[in-house]
Amino acid sequence: MTILIIEDEKDIIKFLKPGLEAECFAVDVAEDGEKGLLCALSKEYDVIILDNNLPKKSGQEVCEELRANKKTTPIIMLSVLSDVDKKVELLNTGADDYLTKPFSFQELLARIRSLLRRPKKIEDEILRIDDLELDSRRNTVKRGGEEISLTRKQFMLLEYLMRNAGMVLTRGMIMEHVWEMDADPFSNTIETHILSLRKKIKNANKPREFIQTVPGRGYKLEA
Ligand code: CA
Repeated sequence: MTILIIEDEKDIIKFLKPGLEAECFAVDVAEDGEKGLLCALSKEYDVIILDNNLPKKSGQEVCEELRANKKTTPIIMLSVLSDVDKKVELLNTGADDYLTKPFSFQELLARIRSLLRRPKKIEDEILRIDDLELDSRRNTVKRGGEEISLTRKQFMLLEYLMRNAGMVLTRGMIMEHVWEMDADPFSNTIETHILSLRKKIKNANKPREFIQTVPGRGYKLEA
């Protein structure tokens, strides 16, 4: 899952980016409202964390412009203002949630997870296909009850494939939802990760291959 942080305060970026990466999100950062808007319009993020007080364009303006451009990406607004009127105003401009600074990382994480499962149910935090099970809250993967140790990227790739099981996912879609924006789109990194992921989720007793290559199109995880 990819997250865009639009925030100019370096301290907050320094605290959020590694924290979210450790929770298996790919994180892009934009440090002013204009850049943030461009990023959010050019890539399909799963969640946007948007500070209200930004250089060049306010968070509120960014939010309004995104919604005017029919971008439905869930947005969590950050603000130092704590009065109720401002909160209502920001939610009315199209933000999905609102956090007042200072906030705890755990609280932000809980809000992100709640937005990601909307409108799905809580059970969706554990994804299951056949005997393959991915727990997106605990960041664990099991096959036939046995835990499999994956790298962060392998986990993110598998989560994206499992959330979209049965659908053909192109390289571009995988790039957008699993890799950071500055990743090289021409490198063979997706292929390499698919190969290593296949090896890890393989079970000698069950020949089933979960991840299918769809020639000329991309990859599909068989539901
Ligand atoms: Ca700010």
